[in-house]
Amino acid sequence: MQVVETIEALRAARRMLPGSVGLVPTMGALHEGHLSLVQQAKAENNVVIVTIFVNPTQFAANEDLAAYPRDLPHDLAMLEGLGIDLVFTPTPALIYPQGYQTYVEVETISQGLEGAHRPGHFRGVATVVAKLFNMTQPDKAYFGQKDAQQVAVIKAMARDLNFPLDVVVCPIKREDDGLAMSSRNTYLDPIQRQAAIILYKALVAASDAYDDGEREPTALRQVMRKVLMGESLADVEYISVSDVNTLRELESAVSTPLLLSMAVKIGQTRLIDNMLLPLALNQSNMLSAILGSG
Ligand code: AMP
Repeated sequence: MQVVETIEALRAARRMLPGSVGLVPTMGALHEGHLSLVQQAKAENNVVIVTIFVNPTQFAANEDLAAYPRDLPHDLAMLEGLGIDLVFTPTPALIYPQGYQTYVEVETISQGLEGAHRPGHFRGVATVVAKLFNMTQPDKAYFGQKDAQQVAVIKAMARDLNFPLDVVVCPIKREDDGLAMSSRNTYLDPIQRQAAIILYKALVAASDAYDDGEREPTALRQVMRKVLMGESLADVEYISVSDVNTLRELESAVSTPLLLSMAVKIGQTRLIDNMLLPLALNQSNMLSAILGSG
Protein backbone atom coordinates (compact mmCIF):
# COMPACT_ATOMS: atom_id res chain seq x y z
CA MET A 1 0.00 0.00 0.00
CA GLN A 2 1.54 3.26 -1.16
CA VAL A 3 0.75 6.38 0.86
CA VAL A 4 1.29 9.72 -0.92
CA GLU A 5 0.87 13.26 0.36
CA THR A 6 1.44 15.42 -2.70
CA ILE A 7 -0.53 15.83 -5.94
CA GLU A 8 2.60 15.15 -8.01
CA ALA A 9 3.23 11.87 -6.19
CA LEU A 10 -0.43 10.94 -6.54
CA ARG A 11 -0.43 11.58 -10.28
CA ALA A 12 2.83 9.66 -10.75
CA ALA A 13 1.52 6.68 -8.77
CA ARG A 14 -1.85 6.84 -10.56
CA ARG A 15 -0.12 6.58 -13.97
CA MET A 16 1.46 3.29 -12.89
CA LEU A 17 -1.83 1.68 -11.81
CA PRO A 18 -3.11 -0.95 -14.24
CA GLY A 19 -6.74 -1.55 -15.21
CA SER A 20 -9.89 -0.10 -13.71
CA VAL A 21 -9.61 2.21 -10.72
CA GLY A 22 -12.13 2.54 -7.89
CA LEU A 23 -11.98 5.68 -5.72
CA VAL A 24 -13.21 5.90 -2.11
CA PRO A 25 -13.08 9.48 -0.80
CA THR A 26 -13.18 9.77 3.01
CA MET A 27 -12.48 12.22 5.81
CA GLY A 28 -10.69 9.55 7.83
CA ALA A 29 -11.50 8.34 11.36
CA LEU A 30 -12.33 5.19 9.46
CA HIS A 31 -14.93 2.69 10.63
CA GLU A 32 -16.67 -0.39 9.22
CA GLY A 33 -18.90 1.82 7.06
CA HIS A 34 -15.90 3.20 5.22
CA LEU A 35 -14.42 -0.28 4.93
CA SER A 36 -17.59 -1.60 3.29
CA LEU A 37 -17.09 1.00 0.53
CA VAL A 38 -13.46 -0.06 0.19
CA GLN A 39 -14.44 -3.73 -0.03
CA GLN A 40 -17.04 -3.06 -2.72
CA ALA A 41 -14.52 -0.96 -4.65
CA LYS A 42 -11.99 -3.76 -4.35
CA ALA A 43 -14.49 -6.33 -5.63
CA GLU A 44 -15.42 -4.23 -8.68
CA ASN A 45 -12.04 -2.82 -9.81
CA ASN A 46 -8.46 -3.85 -10.49
CA VAL A 47 -7.11 -1.25 -8.09
CA VAL A 48 -8.45 0.97 -5.31
CA ILE A 49 -7.47 4.49 -4.27
CA VAL A 50 -8.60 5.79 -0.85
CA THR A 51 -8.33 9.48 -0.03
CA ILE A 52 -8.26 10.78 3.54
CA PHE A 53 -8.88 14.52 3.80
CA VAL A 54 -10.92 16.53 6.29
CA ASN A 55 -12.22 19.08 3.82
CA PRO A 56 -12.43 22.52 5.44
CA THR A 57 -14.68 24.06 2.77
CA GLN A 58 -17.59 21.76 3.63
CA PHE A 59 -17.68 22.89 7.27
CA ALA A 60 -19.50 26.10 8.20
CA ALA A 61 -17.82 28.46 10.68
CA ASN A 62 -19.98 27.17 13.55
CA GLU A 63 -19.30 23.49 12.80
CA ASP A 64 -16.83 20.93 14.15
CA LEU A 65 -13.87 21.26 11.74
CA ALA A 66 -11.27 21.68 14.51
CA ALA A 67 -12.76 18.92 16.66
CA TYR A 68 -13.38 16.46 13.82
CA PRO A 69 -11.67 13.17 14.77
CA ARG A 70 -8.33 12.62 13.05
CA ASP A 71 -6.15 9.52 13.49
CA LEU A 72 -4.06 8.79 10.41
CA PRO A 73 -1.98 5.95 11.94
CA HIS A 74 -5.20 4.16 12.95
CA ASP A 75 -6.69 4.74 9.48
CA LEU A 76 -3.64 3.42 7.66
CA ALA A 77 -3.54 0.38 9.95
CA MET A 78 -7.19 -0.32 9.08
CA LEU A 79 -6.51 -0.03 5.36
CA GLU A 80 -3.31 -2.05 5.48
CA GLY A 81 -4.09 -5.63 4.58
CA LEU A 82 -7.28 -4.78 2.66
CA GLY A 83 -5.39 -4.75 -0.61
CA ILE A 84 -5.55 -0.99 -1.17
CA ASP A 85 -3.07 0.16 -3.78
CA LEU A 86 -2.84 3.87 -3.08
CA VAL A 87 -3.81 6.20 -0.21
CA PHE A 88 -3.77 9.98 -0.69
CA THR A 89 -3.46 12.10 2.48
CA PRO A 90 -3.06 15.74 1.44
CA THR A 91 -2.97 18.79 3.72
CA PRO A 92 -5.56 21.60 3.38
CA ALA A 93 -2.81 23.91 2.07
CA LEU A 94 -2.17 21.51 -0.81
CA ILE A 95 -5.80 21.29 -1.81
CA TYR A 96 -6.54 24.98 -1.25
CA PRO A 97 -3.29 26.89 -1.79
CA GLN A 98 -2.99 30.66 -1.48
CA GLY A 99 -5.11 32.34 -4.14
CA TYR A 100 -7.54 29.44 -4.48
CA GLN A 101 -10.81 30.76 -5.97
CA THR A 102 -12.68 28.08 -7.91
CA TYR A 103 -15.78 26.34 -6.51
CA VAL A 104 -18.38 23.93 -7.86
CA GLU A 105 -22.00 24.81 -7.17
CA VAL A 106 -24.63 22.13 -7.83
CA GLU A 107 -27.86 24.08 -7.72
CA THR A 108 -31.33 22.66 -7.09
CA ILE A 109 -30.48 19.31 -5.51
CA SER A 110 -28.18 21.00 -2.96
CA GLN A 111 -30.87 23.26 -1.58
CA GLY A 112 -33.20 21.17 0.63
CA LEU A 113 -32.52 18.83 3.55
CA GLU A 114 -28.86 19.04 4.64
CA GLY A 115 -28.25 21.94 2.27
CA ALA A 116 -30.95 24.02 3.96
CA HIS A 117 -29.37 23.45 7.38
CA ARG A 118 -25.71 23.54 6.38
CA PRO A 119 -25.27 26.54 4.03
CA GLY A 120 -22.27 26.09 1.75
CA HIS A 121 -21.77 22.45 2.74
CA PHE A 122 -22.43 20.93 -0.67
CA ARG A 123 -20.42 23.63 -2.44
CA GLY A 124 -17.45 22.42 -0.41
CA VAL A 125 -18.27 18.77 -1.02
CA ALA A 126 -18.75 19.18 -4.78
CA THR A 127 -15.57 21.22 -5.07
CA VAL A 128 -13.32 18.76 -3.26
CA VAL A 129 -14.85 15.73 -4.97
CA ALA A 130 -14.40 17.34 -8.40
CA LYS A 131 -10.76 17.99 -7.53
CA LEU A 132 -10.28 14.42 -6.29
CA PHE A 133 -11.91 13.07 -9.47
CA ASN A 134 -9.48 15.13 -11.56
CA MET A 135 -6.48 14.04 -9.51
CA THR A 136 -7.28 10.32 -9.35
CA GLN A 137 -9.19 9.77 -12.64
CA PRO A 138 -11.26 6.85 -11.35
CA ASP A 139 -13.53 4.59 -13.37
CA LYS A 140 -15.90 4.25 -10.43
CA ALA A 141 -16.29 6.33 -7.29
CA TYR A 142 -17.90 4.95 -4.13
CA PHE A 143 -20.16 6.88 -1.76
CA GLY A 144 -22.36 5.85 1.15
CA GLN A 145 -26.15 6.02 1.29
CA LYS A 146 -25.56 7.39 4.81
CA ASP A 147 -25.05 10.77 3.12
CA ALA A 148 -27.96 10.39 0.73
CA GLN A 149 -28.11 13.98 -0.50
CA GLN A 150 -24.34 13.98 -1.03
CA VAL A 151 -24.80 11.06 -3.41
CA ALA A 152 -27.42 13.01 -5.34
CA VAL A 153 -25.21 16.10 -5.49
CA ILE A 154 -22.20 14.11 -6.72
CA LYS A 155 -24.29 12.28 -9.30
CA ALA A 156 -25.60 15.60 -10.66
CA MET A 157 -22.11 17.07 -10.71
CA ALA A 158 -20.57 14.05 -12.46
CA ARG A 159 -23.33 14.16 -15.06
CA ASP A 160 -23.31 17.92 -15.59
CA LEU A 161 -19.51 18.29 -15.74
CA ASN A 162 -19.06 15.13 -17.85
CA PHE A 163 -16.81 13.22 -15.51
CA PRO A 164 -16.27 9.86 -17.24
CA LEU A 165 -17.04 7.65 -14.24
CA ASP A 166 -19.81 5.75 -12.46
CA VAL A 167 -21.02 6.87 -9.05
CA VAL A 168 -21.65 3.75 -6.95
CA VAL A 169 -23.82 3.96 -3.83
CA CYS A 170 -23.17 1.57 -0.93
CA PRO A 171 -25.68 0.67 1.83
CA ILE A 172 -25.55 2.11 5.36
CA LYS A 173 -23.48 0.05 7.82
CA ARG A 174 -25.06 0.00 11.25
CA GLU A 175 -24.01 -0.99 14.74
CA ASP A 176 -25.80 -4.06 16.15
CA ASP A 177 -28.45 -1.85 17.78
CA GLY A 178 -29.16 0.01 14.52
CA LEU A 179 -27.15 3.21 15.01
CA ALA A 180 -25.65 4.20 11.65
CA MET A 181 -21.86 4.11 11.88
CA SER A 182 -20.29 7.56 11.77
CA SER A 183 -16.99 9.14 12.68
CA ARG A 184 -19.02 11.58 14.77
CA ASN A 185 -20.35 8.76 17.00
CA THR A 186 -17.05 9.02 18.90
CA TYR A 187 -18.32 12.35 20.29
CA LEU A 188 -21.15 10.58 22.16
CA ASP A 189 -20.81 9.73 25.85
CA PRO A 190 -22.33 6.38 26.96
CA ILE A 191 -25.74 7.89 27.80
CA GLN A 192 -25.86 9.83 24.54
CA ARG A 193 -24.73 6.75 22.64
CA GLN A 194 -27.71 4.86 24.06
CA ALA A 195 -30.06 7.73 23.17
CA ALA A 196 -28.72 7.88 19.60
CA ILE A 197 -30.51 4.63 18.72
CA ILE A 198 -33.68 6.72 18.50
CA LEU A 199 -32.93 7.83 14.93
CA TYR A 200 -33.02 4.27 13.65
CA LYS A 201 -36.08 3.49 15.78
CA ALA A 202 -37.91 6.42 14.21
CA LEU A 203 -37.04 5.20 10.70
CA VAL A 204 -38.19 1.67 11.55
CA ALA A 205 -41.48 2.99 12.98
CA ALA A 206 -42.16 4.89 9.74
CA SER A 207 -41.20 1.84 7.71
CA ASP A 208 -43.65 -0.26 9.76
CA ALA A 209 -46.40 2.31 9.16
CA TYR A 210 -45.57 2.21 5.43
CA ASP A 211 -45.84 -1.59 5.49
CA ASP A 212 -49.26 -1.19 7.10
CA GLY A 213 -50.31 0.93 4.13
CA GLU A 214 -49.55 4.48 5.31
CA ARG A 215 -48.54 6.62 2.32
CA GLU A 216 -49.25 10.17 3.51
CA PRO A 217 -45.91 11.99 3.92
CA THR A 218 -47.34 14.12 6.74
CA ALA A 219 -48.40 11.02 8.65
CA LEU A 220 -45.01 9.32 8.10
CA ARG A 221 -43.19 12.43 9.33
CA GLN A 222 -45.51 12.45 12.35
CA VAL A 223 -44.68 8.81 13.14
CA MET A 224 -40.95 9.65 13.14
CA ARG A 225 -41.47 12.84 15.16
CA LYS A 226 -43.45 10.98 17.82
CA VAL A 227 -40.71 8.39 18.31
CA LEU A 228 -37.99 11.08 18.45
CA MET A 229 -40.02 13.13 20.97
CA GLY A 230 -39.89 10.10 23.26
CA GLU A 231 -36.13 10.61 23.72
CA SER A 232 -35.42 13.62 25.90
CA LEU A 233 -31.82 13.95 24.65
CA ALA A 234 -32.93 14.17 21.00
CA ASP A 235 -33.19 17.65 19.49
CA VAL A 236 -34.76 17.35 16.02
CA GLU A 237 -33.35 19.58 13.27
CA TYR A 238 -35.49 18.19 10.47
CA ILE A 239 -37.55 15.14 9.56
CA SER A 240 -38.19 14.56 5.87
CA VAL A 241 -40.14 12.37 3.49
CA SER A 242 -38.90 13.10 0.00
CA ASP A 243 -38.86 11.70 -3.50
CA VAL A 244 -35.99 9.21 -3.75
CA ASN A 245 -34.86 10.48 -7.14
CA THR A 246 -35.20 14.24 -6.84
CA LEU A 247 -35.09 14.56 -3.01
CA ARG A 248 -37.99 17.00 -3.25
CA GLU A 249 -40.08 17.13 -0.08
CA LEU A 250 -43.41 15.35 -0.58
CA GLU A 251 -46.69 16.87 0.54
CA SER A 252 -49.12 14.28 -0.77
CA ALA A 253 -49.12 10.51 -1.17
CA VAL A 254 -47.28 9.10 -4.19
CA SER A 255 -46.83 5.55 -5.41
CA THR A 256 -43.14 6.12 -6.21
CA PRO A 257 -40.28 5.26 -3.76
CA LEU A 258 -39.64 7.47 -0.73
CA LEU A 259 -36.57 8.64 1.15
CA LEU A 260 -37.05 9.06 4.89
CA SER A 261 -34.30 11.23 6.35
CA MET A 262 -33.50 13.26 9.43
CA ALA A 263 -30.91 15.28 11.29
CA VAL A 264 -31.05 15.10 15.08
CA LYS A 265 -28.74 16.56 17.68
CA ILE A 266 -27.86 14.42 20.67
CA GLY A 267 -26.15 16.89 22.97
CA GLN A 268 -23.74 18.81 20.72
CA THR A 269 -23.44 15.95 18.25
CA ARG A 270 -25.39 16.28 15.02
CA LEU A 271 -26.40 12.89 13.62
CA ILE A 272 -28.08 12.05 10.30
CA ASP A 273 -29.77 8.88 9.12
CA ASN A 274 -32.09 7.74 6.34
CA MET A 275 -33.98 4.85 4.83
CA LEU A 276 -35.51 4.17 1.41
CA LEU A 277 -39.03 2.76 1.10
CA PRO A 278 -39.90 0.15 0.03
CA LEU A 279 -37.16 -1.46 2.13
CA ALA A 280 -35.83 -3.63 -0.71
CA LEU A 281 -34.39 -0.47 -2.28
CA ASN A 282 -31.79 -0.17 0.51
CA GLN A 283 -29.87 -3.11 -0.97
CA SER A 284 -26.65 -2.44 -2.81
CA ASN A 285 -27.90 -3.77 -6.14
CA MET A 286 -30.81 -1.28 -6.13
CA LEU A 287 -29.29 1.83 -4.53
CA SER A 288 -26.99 3.14 -7.24
CA ALA A 289 -29.68 3.19 -9.89
CA ILE A 290 -32.36 4.88 -7.80
CA LEU A 291 -31.00 7.19 -5.08
CA GLY A 292 -30.60 10.76 -6.31
CA SER A 293 -31.02 9.86 -9.96
CA GLY A 294 -33.70 12.45 -10.71
P1 AMP B 1 -16.87 10.56 5.59
O1 AMP B 1 -15.51 10.13 6.00
O2 AMP B 1 -17.83 10.71 6.73
O3 AMP B 1 -16.86 11.73 4.64
O4 AMP B 1 -17.46 9.36 4.75
C1 AMP B 1 -16.79 8.87 3.62
C2 AMP B 1 -17.74 8.00 2.84
O5 AMP B 1 -18.17 6.92 3.67
C3 AMP B 1 -19.00 8.76 2.41
O6 AMP B 1 -19.34 8.37 1.08
C4 AMP B 1 -20.02 8.29 3.41
O7 AMP B 1 -21.35 8.33 2.92
C5 AMP B 1 -19.58 6.87 3.67
N1 AMP B 1 -20.09 6.39 4.95
C6 AMP B 1 -20.04 7.05 6.14
N2 AMP B 1 -20.68 6.33 7.09
C7 AMP B 1 -21.13 5.21 6.48
C8 AMP B 1 -21.88 4.07 6.93
N3 AMP B 1 -22.29 3.95 8.19
N4 AMP B 1 -22.14 3.11 6.04
C9 AMP B 1 -21.74 3.22 4.74
N5 AMP B 1 -21.05 4.25 4.26
C10 AMP B 1 -20.75 5.24 5.11
